[in-house]
Amino acid sequence: MSESKRFSGKTIMVTGAAGDIGAATAIRFAREGASVALLDIADMSGVLEKVKSAGAVHAAAYQCDVTNWEKVEKTVAQAVKDFSRIDMLFNNAGYQGLFDMTHRYPVEDFAKVMNINVIGVFHVLRAVSVHMAEAGGGAVVNTASMAGVDGPPNMLAYGTSKFAVIGITKTASKDLAPFNIRVNAISPAFMGPGFMWQRQVDLQAEVGSQYFDSDPKVVAQQMIDQVPLRRYGNIDEIPGTVAYLMSDDASYVTGVNIQVSGGI
Ligand code: NAD
Repeated sequence: MSESKRFSGKTIMVTGAAGDIGAATAIRFAREGASVALLDIADMSGVLEKVKSAGAVHAAAYQCDVTNWEKVEKTVAQAVKDFSRIDMLFNNAGYQGLFDMTHRYPVEDFAKVMNINVIGVFHVLRAVSVHMAEAGGGAVVNTASMAGVDGPPNMLAYGTSKFAVIGITKTASKDLAPFNIRVNAISPAFMGPGFMWQRQVDLQAEVGSQYFDSDPKVVAQQMIDQVPLRRYGNIDEIPGTVAYLMSDDASYVTGVNIQVSGGI
């Protein structure tokens, strides 16, 4: 079946592009005709190659720490210069934080999680939306999490930060509507297999709370048992939802949080 090219002539900026979800989404947008600006604090050379092989008309990688406002502002300005405009932003960089009960949660890690997941998301949104407003519009998808809907145990910083990402999405969707900029969020949960899944399973087992067993194999099953679809989601099940929210099919959709979570 021939691939749809619904994003031909458009540019997407993807943050957290070196990670699983960012990379898969960047590749999906390249396949659908978009030019792709990758942004991450980590090396993106492997993803950049894949994005080019997937057919991106124009692709570039920008190494940048989203917690540093000056660098974000400069990097976004450079990307706007290189690509002429940014039509879509997948504001996705994030950090899961440590796992522990609230009364023991490491103070410095709470600040680190907020800095990356909340202030970083704000920085990128702030920098890109100025250009979108000047250019006449755009679409933004922020990556929240089911942790920002449910408040899972032992993830105080992460859950709190993702509630904030949903808050940013709702207020920004109102503030930016007059500028023809739509702002939505996705909330994945229990995506696997891979690093983030295994890390969650192992760390929930280590905490020793009443909610999970101390054996990671049992924890994995306990987590799956929470999911109505009775399996974890695959990373490749995320980009299609992002693409929908960025597309003209969602032209009247703003301020929503779509749960890509198997029903939890
Ligand atoms: P990942 O760890 O593979 O990717 C996260 C990326 O963010 C990494 O490449 C990392 O280098 C980048 N990053 C971290 N701090 C940064 C900073 N200061 N500046 C720039 N980049 C920075 O994880 P992922 O699974 O691809 O996660 C992507 C997003 O999805 C995150 O926001 C995460 O919270 C969210 N999420 C993931 C899951 C899951 O199960 N994988 C579930 C719900 C939500």
